[in-house]
Amino acid sequence: MAGLTAARLLADAGQVVSVLDKGRRAGGRMATRAMAGGAFADHGAQFFTVRSEAFSVVVARWLAEGTVRQWCRGFPSDDGHPRFVGADGMAQLAARMTVGLDVRQSVHVDGVRKVGGRWAVTWPATRWASAGLLEADVVVLTPPAPQSAALVAGQATIPELAYAPTISLLVALGDRPSVPFPGGIQLQDDPTWSWIGDNMAKGVSPVPALTLHTRSDVAAARWEQDNDALITDLLRAASPWLGGAEILDTSLQRWRYATPVEPHPQTCLVRAEGGLVFAGDGYGGPRIEGAFLSGRAAAEAVLNRGI
Ligand SMILES: Cc1cc2nc3c(=O)[nH]c(=O)nc-3n(C[C@H](O)[C@H](O)[C@H](O)COP(=O)(O)OP(=O)(O)OC[C@H]3O[C@@H](n4cnc5c(N)ncnc54)[C@H](O)[C@@H]3O)c2cc1C
Repeated sequence: MAGLTAARLLADAGQVVSVLDKGRRAGGRMATRAMAGGAFADHGAQFFTVRSEAFSVVVARWLAEGTVRQWCRGFPSDDGHPRFVGADGMAQLAARMTVGLDVRQSVHVDGVRKVGGRWAVTWPATRWASAGLLEADVVVLTPPAPQSAALVAGQATIPELAYAPTISLLVALGDRPSVPFPGGIQLQDDPTWSWIGDNMAKGVSPVPALTLHTRSDVAAARWEQDNDALITDLLRAASPWLGGAEILDTSLQRWRYATPVEPHPQTCLVRAEGGLVFAGDGYGGPRIEGAFLSGRAAAEAVLNRGI
């Protein structure tokens, strides 16, 4: 969200922009996975809220074009605040944001270095992309802060920001799960889960599929456990919500940097005389809207530099 927001604003202002993303699909923590039986599950962000005027303008446009829609106004009951979702999943919202931009997926950047007055951004060959180099006047870095810090080591330092982890368990089911209306539960006191979402009730999956997010302390304690044992244990903890339905498919996602614990007080950070700008939810706040506001601030910082 931060990177695509910054890129869109910079491109609209006439800058030449390339987005490099290690993911095979755009979206980062806005992510949707296809599962057996035609199921889909959002496995990162589940919905978003709108508090700022700047974000409400963009969301109104997405609503009008059908890219997002309102899911509900609270869990379990109406608290007056709309919860929005990508109409076809969160990844589809990200995909929509890439339209008209030069976005290169599966590019895992391994360094950002100053070479002859410009920035050289490099990446090695992987299974999905060949090695490459891009030169730029300004680099906006929007990975979680520890990953960005590693990319600019020796060029700039940024404050350390801590992130809490989460493990997502996705379960495709043969029948409806036991998740009450509107299909999402935010849990405070459960020993394992912080969130349970019914992707079919949400309108993202045509067939039953659950997303369950662990508490961060459970994720930290279980981080090294192998997938098979972890899925077995987590399925046991999930059983009250599965409604006895047949399990058709399961999938795990470990989010090491799920949520910034204490976001930086600035909405973005500028270093190297404006040549490096750091953005993301670690700066704007631990939500999709925070990432949007940070990406927007990063674009403004680049434009104010007057290149
Ligand atoms: C499980 C979970 C549930 C959540 N639920 C909600 C929710 O319900 N509502 C809400 O508002 N927010 C939620 N969030 C938080 C929300 O997803 C984030 O705040 C937001 O998506 C962060 O956006 P971002 O652009 O800052 O970072 P990211 O989405 O993490 O984007 C960073 C990008 O950097 C790329 N990258 C990283 N390193 C490199 C590299 N070396 N080379 C190239 N590319 C690289 C990644 O591929 C990624 O695309 C949730 C997060 C998680 C993990």
